[in-house]
Amino acid sequence: MATVTKRRKKSASKSSAKASKNGAPHSKSGKKSSGGKVGKMIYHFSKSRTDGDGSMKPLLGGKGANLAAMTSIGLPVPPGFTITTEVCMYYYKNGKKYPPALLNDVKTAVAWLEKETGKKFGDTKNPLLVSVRSGARDSMPGMMDTILNLGLNDKTVEALKAATGNGRFAWDSYRRFVQMYGDVVMGVQKRHEHEHEPFDEVMDHMKRERGVQEDTQLNEADLQELVQKFKALIRERTGQGFPATPFEQLQGAIGAVFGSWMNERAILYRQKYKIPDEWGTAVNVQSMVFGNMGDDCATGVAFTRDPATGENVFYGEYLVNAQGEDVVAGVRTPKPVAEMSHDPIIGPAFKELEKVRKTLEKNFGDVQDFEFTIEKKKLYMLQTRNGKRTALAYVKIAHDMVHERLMTPEHAIRSGDPEALNQLLQPIFDRHDYEHAKNSGRLLATGLAAGPGAASGKVVFSATKAEQWANQGEKVVLARIETSPEDLRGMIASEGILTCRGGVSSHAALVARQMGKVCVAGAGDIHIDYHAGTLTCKGHTLREGDAISINGSTGEVFCGSIKTADSELKQVLISRSLDPSESKAYQYYNFIMKLADKYRKLGLRTNADQPDQVENAIAFGADGIGLCRTEHMFFEGDRIIAVRQMILSETLEDRKRALDKLLPLQQGDFEGIFRALAGRPACIRLLDPPLHEFLPQHDNPRGQHEVAEQLGISVETVNKRVHELHEFNPMLGFRGCRLGIKYPEITEMQARAIFQAAAAVVGEGGKVQPEVMVPLVGFKRELDLQVEIIHRVAKEVMKETGKKFKYTVGTMIEIPRGALTADEIANTAEFFSFGTNDLTQTCLGMSRDDSGSFLPAYQQAEIIKTNPFASIDVTGVGKLMQIGVEKGRTTKPDLKIGICGEHGGDPSSIHFCHKIGMNYVSCSPFRVPIARLAAAQAALAK
Ligand code: PEP
Ligand code: MG
Repeated sequence: MATVTKRRKKSASKSSAKASKNGAPHSKSGKKSSGGKVGKMIYHFSKSRTDGDGSMKPLLGGKGANLAAMTSIGLPVPPGFTITTEVCMYYYKNGKKYPPALLNDVKTAVAWLEKETGKKFGDTKNPLLVSVRSGARDSMPGMMDTILNLGLNDKTVEALKAATGNGRFAWDSYRRFVQMYGDVVMGVQKRHEHEHEPFDEVMDHMKRERGVQEDTQLNEADLQELVQKFKALIRERTGQGFPATPFEQLQGAIGAVFGSWMNERAILYRQKYKIPDEWGTAVNVQSMVFGNMGDDCATGVAFTRDPATGENVFYGEYLVNAQGEDVVAGVRTPKPVAEMSHDPIIGPAFKELEKVRKTLEKNFGDVQDFEFTIEKKKLYMLQTRNGKRTALAYVKIAHDMVHERLMTPEHAIRSGDPEALNQLLQPIFDRHDYEHAKNSGRLLATGLAAGPGAASGKVVFSATKAEQWANQGEKVVLARIETSPEDLRGMIASEGILTCRGGVSSHAALVARQMGKVCVAGAGDIHIDYHAGTLTCKGHTLREGDAISINGSTGEVFCGSIKTADSELKQVLISRSLDPSESKAYQYYNFIMKLADKYRKLGLRTNADQPDQVENAIAFGADGIGLCRTEHMFFEGDRIIAVRQMILSETLEDRKRALDKLLPLQQGDFEGIFRALAGRPACIRLLDPPLHEFLPQHDNPRGQHEVAEQLGISVETVNKRVHELHEFNPMLGFRGCRLGIKYPEITEMQARAIFQAAAAVVGEGGKVQPEVMVPLVGFKRELDLQVEIIHRVAKEVMKETGKKFKYTVGTMIEIPRGALTADEIANTAEFFSFGTNDLTQTCLGMSRDDSGSFLPAYQQAEIIKTNPFASIDVTGVGKLMQIGVEKGRTTKPDLKIGICGEHGGDPSSIHFCHKIGMNYVSCSPFRVPIARLAAAQAALAK
């Protein structure tokens, strides 16, 4: 089963072990119930009775809901029952205590399952054996715990032997159960990264003693001895015996699965994928079927289409005579599922599997990732879920399945991960450098293309190193024999992941696909020796830190570094070096973007200060500029000299002289922007930052010297002015509209530059839509004073140039007073744009530049869930925004309102902006596709 993983972290074991000790429904620990009502706790699924359905993912988890759905459409699913996510949440809300009725309900459900299967827990003739598996609303592959073969003990193992006539199989199943239970429920695990798994160690020792290589070469007697040794190991490590009765085992397993919701891996995973803790996991108890009873049995995992490329091919792998964990663990190399049709014994089951593949896509309306087992030539379905896929596969599958009428257009939009679209912009290998590497014998090996894109960096062999080196700014490629959930942090930190064992459904491939990491899996020719710190292949030896390059689109692994080049999408849209008709990737992407535009209600703008940025954003689909930060232009070329002259001026005349120098430069900038926009709106913000940002500070005497020389004044004057401009809290100091209030001539120059540029472009026959934006307004009067200047200058310019153009004047809402008095401000403002960077900083009283030192601790202490500077703090800042929108529109019902803080490119913030009725979001050019999809999803959200 794809979610089974071999290795567990110590911290995880603690919570699991504790849960087991308490026994699932018996827990006495924790405080008194603090509420959290639980409805029906158990849902059954079988041919004769299925309580749930596919729509019940919040309650039954994805796995439980889909088991019910598969059962209902007549697919062969072994019967079982699901304990709801509500029970999980009750458990955590009530000091790790279960609802009082749970124990009885589980007993009743077991009795029902016994009837349904004709087997009995603990029966010495026909024992019921079950799997116990987690299942959250969204799948969290490999993050939580699973137990198989539960119900085996010293007696039932003999019954299994008698029933199957296969002693080796029975004892091997028992051996696996004790091992798995000992690991995930009782916490017998390796104690540090370089230690071997304790159970593997015992088994390896026995194999050495017997002089055999493979697990399968151990006979029944060996396995019997192994079970005793495993039990002894458990007692030695935990001081406890292995639970003998199946119900006791079940209690422990349920406890471990619920406990694993809060293990370190699962928490990290949820943080990364923004899965709320409150969702909880369900527990699925399902009667076992066996893929390891002989050569007429098999187990496998498959996707209805290729999840890496999106190709419509049956994609997956299977192993004959094996249990699910063998496929994923990478111990044996599975065969491609298409080869199954040639198998003389289980070949016929492939036909059924092909049918199932079609049924699944038709019924679930999306690509499915499913697990199956063939027991004595009969096919059983163990789970199905929407397959995680790369961004390329997402756009292709959506394009194809909508055209094949298998997927609704709405689902095509809903099922995308906006953030993942970034993958389509990821680099590929530079063609020339790549050919050269190939021709010069640097190709080491070819594995499975498990995560597309190109990565080049220093090879590291442990997740810890990957994290450490990446934190030091190194680009690293993590190479492991196989990965496990505890490698997650290192995988996140790496440019790419390489494994030498495991197939397309191995942990590395699964996680890489989801994270959008470049990944080559199962490059079997490569040998990694952790102790020696080497990677060897074909006579090459790489040590930690040596350069390596991997191509996750072809599976190739090269020694040395290879230059990377722009993705196809960038070549089509940005450098325009590739014709759209030559790029399938672009065509699929474009299909999704066009579809998104049909649904989205929010307009899309970009934060851009230069014509080339504007062009990029338009190529990605922006409708205009949401924020042009004029000060960014001040740093270009030698215009900073005029800016400094303006700042250092002692008199109005001096300042005006400096501003006169800046005027034509700014006008030129705006002309470029207007031309690039071709009539689309340009929201241009007046000067905002504290002036000291333009001067070299005390710690830079050399810089001050240079300024003095450039302006022909003394260093003392520069130094004195720097001193005068020093502020204790510059972000709350002399900045924003306060600059224009004290020095109206700055506003006047900027307004003149904007309007003269507009007149010039209109004069060329072009179209313009300037929107002049005043920053940091908290009082209506501040805006009134600035607007007066802007209108006067506009009139003057129109008169001087004889050109007419429309323009509007509005304000940023970025301090709480602005939001709270938005009704007053809206009397003057023609539009609002939320500056959520400053609004967050001022609402939370947290400096946007200094909060990095304590925000991680805040996240760890669960004071905040996500960084409020990245994703809108809906309950606090969001409240101010809501007030701002409502108040603004009481004064002007049609007031145009947008957002230009960094949050404008964050999918969950975009949802919020849609919800409160904003007109547009604005984000950086390369986030426009993400925002486009997120805006469509927001419009489709229920
Ligand atoms: C903001 O405050 O959100 C904003 C866009 O302005 P800046 O980041 O330039 O302060
Ligand atoms: Mg701001």
